[in-house]
Amino acid sequence: MKQETTEYNYDWMLWSILENAAGSDDGTAKEYRALISLVPHFREVLDALVRCGREGVLLLKLLARYLRQCIEAKERGKRIALTSFCVATPILYAFDVVPMCLEALTVLGTFVLRRGTAEYLDYCCEVGFTETSCSAQRGALGAVLAGLAVRPDFIVCDSPGICDTNANSFAFAGAYLDVPFFQLNYPPTLADERANAYHHRDFRHLISFLEEQTGRTLQETVLSDILQETRIQDEISCELMELQRLVPAPAPGIYDLMLYGGKFMMGGTPEYTELLRSMVKRARENAKRGIAGTTTGRERARGLFCYIDHYTTDMRFWSWLNDHDITHLGSMLFTFWQEDACYARGREEEGYRIETGTLDDMIGSLAGQMSRMPMVKQIRGPYDAPHMWLDDTICAARLFKADFVAYIGTMGCRNTWGMVKLLARDLERLGIPALVLYADAFDDRIQSWEAITDRIEEFIHLRRIGV
Ligand code: SF4
Repeated sequence: MKQETTEYNYDWMLWSILENAAGSDDGTAKEYRALISLVPHFREVLDALVRCGREGVLLLKLLARYLRQCIEAKERGKRIALTSFCVATPILYAFDVVPMCLEALTVLGTFVLRRGTAEYLDYCCEVGFTETSCSAQRGALGAVLAGLAVRPDFIVCDSPGICDTNANSFAFAGAYLDVPFFQLNYPPTLADERANAYHHRDFRHLISFLEEQTGRTLQETVLSDILQETRIQDEISCELMELQRLVPAPAPGIYDLMLYGGKFMMGGTPEYTELLRSMVKRARENAKRGIAGTTTGRERARGLFCYIDHYTTDMRFWSWLNDHDITHLGSMLFTFWQEDACYARGREEEGYRIETGTLDDMIGSLAGQMSRMPMVKQIRGPYDAPHMWLDDTICAARLFKADFVAYIGTMGCRNTWGMVKLLARDLERLGIPALVLYADAFDDRIQSWEAITDRIEEFIHLRRIGV
């Protein structure tokens, strides 16, 4: 790692950049224009969010607050858990534990750092971790392993389906840092009694682990309050998705990122609720005016991203879609399988409901939520088995009236590379144009951003989408 990369801590750099970005809207328009010229490598991110209005600024504030909570955790006497995006944060917040979500921190690094996360990605391999792993964890993990981020007290991760590379990242970190480790498991089925009972038992073990690590006992009233907040967040998210079914779709594409990013970092907190309320308000207003969520208000085509989004530097993925009047209808990371979500209608046994009556109800709700997190649900077995990737993609493509479906993954995503061509073939047979992009969502060195946009342009042109 270059010496200049080791001068400042990764998490501190992200925090200081985003803390300042969150205040950029406080001054005059002239001050803002001057500021924008001084941040060339993340100008697009900042401007896209500020132009979004209140919700963009709320997201910046949420990110700054989240990062501050990570870097100040130790001095405030809080425990830090290194987690994955598939962990439901309410259980950690109920123990006053700060969730340090590796994938979210990797995305933030690629968005705002001039050199992205390449050196941190490579550092993991320098200390012995495999380079064929998922880059989603490796970006921020490199900084943690190098001691360039706050040291976690323990690790809590969820097994995203059969994703060995995700699970290995956390296991490697646990061994390398010599910290306690807990991984939630997954049975191969989802919605039967045996699977439910398994998840419930597994989740009770997680609670025992957290009690042991924190020296606290789970406070039912604290958990109940957080879960009630989570229920409100679920209701708002479901309304947003319902609005996104309209033609034109009224929510800006970047809401996809706001919805899942906020949930991965601060699900169950009032800050996330405020962000969601602001988003749904704007989407409702656009719907009333009959305009799309793009800057022009026009919708040329509707794209569904059946896996993850692309996190190229400066957030150019969302800007590119917006500039071409292409509606981003959501990605797999957008789907959490709340029982009331439009895609869970008629498939209620696949959804989860938040109940707060008794401790048993709350544990059942959290176990249900965690077992249905993105990837955990869809990639736990054959892609075309009931309740899995194919089922979910077809359902979403029809429900959201997608003109095309696009796949973007990571080089380490072996479980989806093994099935994505078959998935695309099945979609095409149903008349849904499907594009497989050979990019790495977190590492531009695999395929440049320009090469990706060329391929999307070519695909849209050849398939006469939006003409
Ligand atoms: S993107 Fe693929 S490799 Fe990465 S965590 Fe998800 S399933 Fe695993």
